[in-house]
Amino acid sequence: MKSWPEVYIPTIDSKYVFPELSLFNSESHRTEVLPFKKTYRIYVCGITPYDSTHLGHAATYISFDLINRYLRAMQSEVNFVQNITDIDDPLLERANRDGVDWQDLANSQIDRFRSDMTALHVIPPRNYIGAVEAIPLVIEKIQELEAAQSIYQVEKDLYFRVQKDPEFGKRSNLSETDSLKIFAERGGDPHRVGKEHPLDSLVWLAQLPNEPGWSSIFGDGRPGWHIECCAIALKYLEPEVSDEYLIDIQGGGSDLIFPHHEMSASQARVSTGKRFARLYVHTGMIGLEGQKMSKSLGNLQFVSTLVDSGVNPMSIRCALMMQSYSKDRMWSNELLENSDIFLDALTLHLSKTECAPTQQVIQDIINALSSNLDTEKVFMIINQWIKQSESGATGGNPGELSRALDTLLGIAI
Ligand code: ZN
Repeated sequence: MKSWPEVYIPTIDSKYVFPELSLFNSESHRTEVLPFKKTYRIYVCGITPYDSTHLGHAATYISFDLINRYLRAMQSEVNFVQNITDIDDPLLERANRDGVDWQDLANSQIDRFRSDMTALHVIPPRNYIGAVEAIPLVIEKIQELEAAQSIYQVEKDLYFRVQKDPEFGKRSNLSETDSLKIFAERGGDPHRVGKEHPLDSLVWLAQLPNEPGWSSIFGDGRPGWHIECCAIALKYLEPEVSDEYLIDIQGGGSDLIFPHHEMSASQARVSTGKRFARLYVHTGMIGLEGQKMSKSLGNLQFVSTLVDSGVNPMSIRCALMMQSYSKDRMWSNELLENSDIFLDALTLHLSKTECAPTQQVIQDIINALSSNLDTEKVFMIINQWIKQSESGATGGNPGELSRALDTLLGIAI
């Protein structure tokens, strides 16, 4: 799948010290240090293209962009892979509802997603992979799971036996009651007759009349969602044999903790015998003016709508970084206005020849980011610098600070 254009990242002077990055791991419920490595492997779940990028998506991809930027700035390589679920129930349902071809709908929303990511200055993944193009990988992965006796058939569909993974459920830490409830709410089928365990998940759906299907040794059909991410991650992140974990970070919104990330990790564990991710990192949900923002409430706020109405994409980016990535938080017009005011003041002082000292500011920003991406502190540091510059302090290098803000935070002015 074609990604979006590469983003220029200015280099940062080697005098700055980069502490190891610590991140909140949803599995252990603790903030943990990501040990220094030459190459990091990061997998972030992409969208299902029946709608374009809403602010929750934007917040997620900007958060992982900050991780990507930090690790690159510390001179490591980052193999960053993202998928796009270009075949799944919600896409077919929406296409059916609107009377459009599902492929046309997917293509139009994928194009919009690319332009949204470009506008938000998000570094493109090294590999951006669609579910359809990954079907041969999914088939291979199902065969590996079959060899591990973890696949069975219900009618013509194939299921994964979750209990084949001794660690099933330990990544999401939910009670059985909550697991079953959330599984049913998020597309699972706990009550289907013929299943061995209510939480077993679909890996291959036999083709239904009027639905697309692809040929496979299991019959015509299409892949389940969880196996898609497992197969793509393990192929394109090229796990290192000597590493205890297959990948370093599995990321996405907190609504993916269960069942999606639990299932993908279990399938990876059962098919390889190794633990999937070193850290499971999740971003909080974005609400709108005091309310939950959701498809069912019909109040999703889209990046493209805001940009088309004249909002500066950099203002959206800054507004979404002003609070901690892991918290559920609210979007509001006031937040966007504050972000505009912040950017105006920042631009003004970065364009002057004299400004307050900048070297310690850059180091403080690096330190704050290293501590679970503490962007609240980062904005406090930058605002302090703006105030000092306003009050006439001198001795800084505005060009260096401007480049560092781009490198580390993706704030391009
Ligand atoms: Zn995924």
